[in-house]
Amino acid sequence: MVLLFMDIFFIGFRDPLFSLIIFFILIFIITLVSYWWGRYKNQEDTKKLDEFLDSFRQMPTQDELTDLISSSKISQKSWLLLAKSYYDYGDYEKSIEIYNELLKVSSLSNSKDIMFLLGRTYFKAGFLQRSKDIFLTILKDQPKMPQVLEYLLLVYESLKDYRSALDVLEPLDELNQFIQKDMIYLQILLLLDNKKLSEDKKIEQLLQIYKKNTQFQYLIFQYIFQKNPQVAWKNLSFNNLENLIDIFWFLDKKDLDFDIIAQHPYLQELYSARGDITVVDRSELFEFDLLIKLQNKASVTLSFEYICDNCKQSYPFVFYRCSYCHTLDKMRIEPSLIRDYQRDFNYESNSFQ
Ligand SMILES: [Zn+2]
Repeated sequence: MVLLFMDIFFIGFRDPLFSLIIFFILIFIITLVSYWWGRYKNQEDTKKLDEFLDSFRQMPTQDELTDLISSSKISQKSWLLLAKSYYDYGDYEKSIEIYNELLKVSSLSNSKDIMFLLGRTYFKAGFLQRSKDIFLTILKDQPKMPQVLEYLLLVYESLKDYRSALDVLEPLDELNQFIQKDMIYLQILLLLDNKKLSEDKKIEQLLQIYKKNTQFQYLIFQYIFQKNPQVAWKNLSFNNLENLIDIFWFLDKKDLDFDIIAQHPYLQELYSARGDITVVDRSELFEFDLLIKLQNKASVTLSFEYICDNCKQSYPFVFYRCSYCHTLDKMRIEPSLIRDYQRDFNYESNSFQ
């Protein structure tokens, strides 16, 4: 049997075709093995690299952090820089952990600064009560720190404790800080929050505030247009109407005052673009101009973006105080053209009937 096999093999070995087949089979096996080995090595390398990068992404555990900070292997300045970069990237949890550990080992001279940074991070992270407690503790020893007072004002404002926020303005005023805008804003918020005051009284007082200061036009007229559009139209000052563009755009047709609209080119263009009137055939504003020329023939409408004129941060919603730079009454509204899905939906619903 073995002799028979050897015979066939050696006959095959001498056959050039058979040798060629063996040669290709060997090449195929070697290629396959080296391919799988390369793939395996690649996976292993990627795994090792991921583990290495993870070690940077992961925060040390609480014990490791305590050891590292107390051992002074890394300077306090480096820890503060690290906490600041976590804060800037919005990773408040890690920033808070570092500040808390630093507070345990910091000297009295810089503990107030670290406490301020911790309070500021708590505020950004939404832990308003903790942030308030920290700012009040700092102010107990050093009542004239403008930065701390400014943040305490923001905390009270976020907690809707407008009276306490107004109280903070007094020491800020003594420190020669500019408080006039904050004062008006808090008075408006206090007024709007007053449950005992009727809507008519609120409107009356809001108009008084507006006539005296001509600030917070959006906040004041947003409320009045919502509660009593007729009064809003009558008292509207026609400067900077573009600052109220979205209020006008979303107003119900029944609430429009066509006599007043007829007197103001901007309003004529806006409502011609919306399709309520056809008194103008062009506009300086590209979005209005296009909508006027389309004459309701296409499913296009306006969408709005809200930009802080101070820091240029943009938001998809209305704001009175920029949450990034904390400036008041600096909102600019940018319209843009978008597809009108509501119109598409209404058209489809009607076509099924
Ligand atoms: Zn801003």
